[in-house]
Amino acid sequence: MKIEKKPSCNSVTEPGVITVPEAVQNILDKTQPISDFSKLHIRQCLNRVLFENIKSPIDVPGFNNSAMDGYALNCEYLPSDQSKSFKVIGTAFAGKPFAGSCGKNECVRIMTGAMLPEQADTIVIQEDVQVLDADSIQIGTGHKKNQNLRFSGEDIKSGTTVLYKGAVIKAADLGVLASLGVNEVKVVRKPRVSFFSTGDELKSIGDTLVKGEIYDSNRYSLYGLLAGCDVDIIDMGAVKDDPDSIKQTLLSAAACSDVILTSGGVSVGEADYIKGILQEIGSMDIWKIAMKPGRPLTFGQINNSLFFGLPGNPVAVMVTYYQFVLPALNKVKGMSHKAPLTLKAKSLSSIRKNPGRREFQRAIAKNDDNGNLQVKLTGKQGSGILTSMSQANCFIVLSEDRGSVEQGDMVDIQFFVL
Ligand code: AMP
Ligand code: MG
Repeated sequence: MKIEKKPSCNSVTEPGVITVPEAVQNILDKTQPISDFSKLHIRQCLNRVLFENIKSPIDVPGFNNSAMDGYALNCEYLPSDQSKSFKVIGTAFAGKPFAGSCGKNECVRIMTGAMLPEQADTIVIQEDVQVLDADSIQIGTGHKKNQNLRFSGEDIKSGTTVLYKGAVIKAADLGVLASLGVNEVKVVRKPRVSFFSTGDELKSIGDTLVKGEIYDSNRYSLYGLLAGCDVDIIDMGAVKDDPDSIKQTLLSAAACSDVILTSGGVSVGEADYIKGILQEIGSMDIWKIAMKPGRPLTFGQINNSLFFGLPGNPVAVMVTYYQFVLPALNKVKGMSHKAPLTLKAKSLSSIRKNPGRREFQRAIAKNDDNGNLQVKLTGKQGSGILTSMSQANCFIVLSEDRGSVEQGDMVDIQFFVL
């Protein structure tokens, strides 16, 4: 008897399949930013998302000052053809300005960051002068007006917007905020993300495995990804392939979460209940994506929570997290969407591929001796081979229309952000 093959994950011509960018767009269309915020001391705001525009209340720097240690003077008195002596009338330190003004053939000893004395407009660095005695120096030719000065407001003018709502606050931003004298800002509430694994075969670490069982690794890789993403994490454990338990866990997750992630149970295997449950207690949007690994993905909503039913295979969980969950989490936090940064690298591996799906191969990118990027696969690429992720620092992303890659071909890579 001839067995007729039904469409499977391996067929790319199957109807209803959408591309990765289409899936991302569908997800973003259904994702709403959080509108709660708190006002926190800037030290507590690293990696948080700003909920307000920050305008500078002051000029930075607040006054003209010296960029170097040297002597401040008025350029009008600089020598044009031969060297000339200047009287040193005092010293200006950072935080301790010189009280007088700089007259004809006079100068003020000045330190980096010290306020420019009145009438002075130029700094001659100390290496360019000859000290004659305690009160006088000799200066040669070749100096220019305004040299070695930092002008008031040259970094930030009072009233300028320096940081915008939706920006992620980085280390430099903490410094910028401090330079404005700002000690508290409004940041978006952290999203609450709950997650659980599904599968009768799963045991938690610490338990003993019996035949046919495996340790639940997805909860730990997901925990790691979420922990690096500045969200409140709610780990709901591993749940058996039992519709009632899954439904109850989903309902309690929905009661306290902005985003719910599950792994496993979304393919068409017999124990794949999640899809049916979601249709009962919420809504469901996506099913088949032209990608490898990670094709079975369920996306939907339960009350006000977003739901991602990630695949069970450990690599597929991480790939779908990066491609779909992360953009959604960023939008939930109020960040504007940016496609992942892609770089070009020379492939040291040959890779077999048929056109049709977008593939995410795990690889190690590094600079060659000339500083150019090169990239090499981490070995076997099955979606259950989690060591391919742990050894890798990037994905090689092969677009839908691309066929096989030969050694030496250029490929797109995306570095892991965590
Ligand atoms: P599923 O999507 O439930 O059909 O699972 C696909 C594959 O991933 C199976 O081999 C599962 O045993 C494995 N798997 C599912 N969940 C996990 C998990 N939490 N940790 C490790 N492997 C898992
Ligand atoms: Mg399963």
